[in-house]
Amino acid sequence: MLIRTGECNQCGECCKTLNITVVRDVTLNQHKSIKELELYLSYRGICIVGEDIKRNQLFYSINIPCQQLGPENECKVHKEPEAKPLLCHRYPIEPDKSEDCSYQFHPSTPLRSMEFDIVRTR
Ligand code: SF4
Ligand code: SF4
Repeated sequence: MLIRTGECNQCGECCKTLNITVVRDVTLNQHKSIKELELYLSYRGICIVGEDIKRNQLFYSINIPCQQLGPENECKVHKEPEAKPLLCHRYPIEPDKSEDCSYQFHPSTPLRSMEFDIVRTR
């Protein structure tokens, strides 16, 4: 298990695209090949950005910036906990691929888990 530390620096990198996970084998069956799937998706502005064969997943990225992303890439609802979606509060739950993301992740050790729990309950 990884423990997350740090604060969001409001770089906005995770807010510029919509990312979706689909079932890999079902999707490839429908389209018959990855080339055919990519052709179809390219007409809709969707890119395949990765896959996890073991988990039978394909990852899509769609270039749709969030409507709450401000001109300086800031989240306009960051300071309004109830207006900010739960997914955004929790993101990232694992290391983000963007170099701009300011969160760090550390392997959990019994001591670090205790420290984390203490900080969380303050
Ligand atoms: S609500 Fe804020 S944090 Fe969530 S995607 Fe939109 S801009 Fe980003
Ligand atoms: S990529 Fe990381 S630092 Fe940047 S807005 Fe998203 S969560 Fe915040």
